[in-house]
Amino acid sequence: MNHKKEKDLIKFDEMGLAPEVVKAIGELGFETPTPIQEKCIPFIYQNSDDLIANAQTGTGKTAAFGLPIVGLLDPKDKNVQALILSPTRELGMQIAKDLKAYTKYSPDINIVAIYGGASMDVQIKELKRGGQIVVGTPGRVADMIRRKKLKVDHIRWSVLDEADEMLSMGFKDELDAILANTPQEKQTLLFSATIPKGIENIAKKYMSNPEKISVGKKNAGADNVRHFYYKVQARDRYLVLKRIVDMTPGIYGIVFCRTRRETKEVAENLMKDGYNADALHGDLSQPQREYVMARFHSRHLQILVATDVAARGLDVDDLTHVINYNLPDDSEIYVHRSGRTGRAGKSGICVSIIHGREQHKVRLLQKMVGKKFDQEMIPTGAQVCETQLFHLVDKMEHISVDEKQIEPYLETVYKKLDWLSREDLIKRFVSVEFSRFLEYYSDARDLNVSVKRERDNDDEQQEGGKRHRKNMDYSRFYVNLGTKNGINPGKIIRLITDEPSFKSLEIGSIELFKKFSFFEIDKKYEKEVMKHFENMDYNGIKVSIELSKSKASKPTNTKSSRSSYGGGKSYGGHRKSSGGNSSYNKGGGSRRKKY
Ligand code: AMP
Repeated sequence: MNHKKEKDLIKFDEMGLAPEVVKAIGELGFETPTPIQEKCIPFIYQNSDDLIANAQTGTGKTAAFGLPIVGLLDPKDKNVQALILSPTRELGMQIAKDLKAYTKYSPDINIVAIYGGASMDVQIKELKRGGQIVVGTPGRVADMIRRKKLKVDHIRWSVLDEADEMLSMGFKDELDAILANTPQEKQTLLFSATIPKGIENIAKKYMSNPEKISVGKKNAGADNVRHFYYKVQARDRYLVLKRIVDMTPGIYGIVFCRTRRETKEVAENLMKDGYNADALHGDLSQPQREYVMARFHSRHLQILVATDVAARGLDVDDLTHVINYNLPDDSEIYVHRSGRTGRAGKSGICVSIIHGREQHKVRLLQKMVGKKFDQEMIPTGAQVCETQLFHLVDKMEHISVDEKQIEPYLETVYKKLDWLSREDLIKRFVSVEFSRFLEYYSDARDLNVSVKRERDNDDEQQEGGKRHRKNMDYSRFYVNLGTKNGINPGKIIRLITDEPSFKSLEIGSIELFKKFSFFEIDKKYEKEVMKHFENMDYNGIKVSIELSKSKASKPTNTKSSRSSYGGGKSYGGHRKSSGGNSSYNKGGGSRRKKY
């Protein structure tokens, strides 16, 4: 990564890093620091003040805090000197892997990773063996501190990585519990892609007068791009695409699809429906590709439907729109797509058509891009017609008239239309051009996904989802943890999915009460789930679960009367757990209070 001109380049060995670390990162291909590293590394070396770094994923933030910590810690001291908290086990494992790579030639530095979903015993052994740096997820770290297996009372650095994500995943209590055990005089380094209110509160509570460092957006030019999305039912994708295009008569854009087949289909449909569109995909011969690209370049083609791979060679500066007919699986691809608009100082729009279950992807993308994505309402038929009509009238008003060319025909035309009044003439003119839209949109339905439809749609999205839900047998468990113990649906899901083999386990409804809760899981896993909860400890409470025969049946070891059930909060069923990072749908369960 070269970020500056040759003469301005700062080298890692000029930043105070030990030669063995410079050697190790050299092998990783790190030649010059990234902007966040350029700012953070010297700061951490030279200051003991706290730091809030506003940096997105992929900016090199792990090395920004990792390299100075590795350089400053005392390898002879076997106590935990740095505690790095990460929202997910995947990120935690990645950080630990990166730190191990930086310390490949520093044999006295040890890194231990602890996270839910893996054996406690193994991690306890590793903690016993000792590591100057511990990387972990808040739940497991808090647990290890409680069990006195992890001592953090001597740490010199605490790092809160992706702090916004930790807050949005409901880890606030764990963060509070962990940080309360750490010494006052440590340096706290907080990295976050966004700085919402909660982060400011954390800063106020746990940091003193923090320095703030922010680096520019990863994607140059992205400032000019507005990102928004429409939430639709999957089967309405094409109709929504048409509305987007119809709402933007001067559109000059690329519609990105995921597969060749989809690209062909969408382009063919658009052409059939009278749009100035064509497809660019891998099945075209070279001359065909060049022809399509040339037409698009010269703006003879308004809409290009393309796959990411096929669009690679295309270099167009003044696109008005990038449309994600489908979101890509890889966030980097989204950034790349959106970077095709908003170039050369112009503003651009990157719009995505998503269905209900993709909302979590939007959250990830927002972080990656560092901007909020707005959800927009899909325009109604009447709104499209109005836009088109005004566009037409505007066009008529501003069209340049070539008197000379039309002069020979005018007399006949005047004669022919002589009998019409001015109003009639305008009406007819508008109708000629406009009837296609009026006709098409005359009883166009509302394509916006209502809350109810969204839920139905979610079920439809999963193959045979509805049948699946009806036929699926759930087992209902009572657990002796409730809101009083800080339990929320996310925490219940995390308690279950701590076990990696339950990652895609079907979880039904969750009902929360003050002192206890109920949750449903796929009946097939009844025994395993029982076993998973055996000997579990939650914030010092021995967790006990029991099978609850029916919704109305009272668990044997609670004194609650039936009427007290009414006070519970219920979160509607049928979700696939997603490894502790679950987004759950609120609402749903019949006969229950809906949120
Ligand atoms: P991160 O934001 O820490 O996840 O880093 C994103 C990617 O950039 C990782 O693959 C790092 O290995 C890589 N990286 C970080 N710093 C540098 C650097 N100075 N030069 C080259 N690659 C880097």
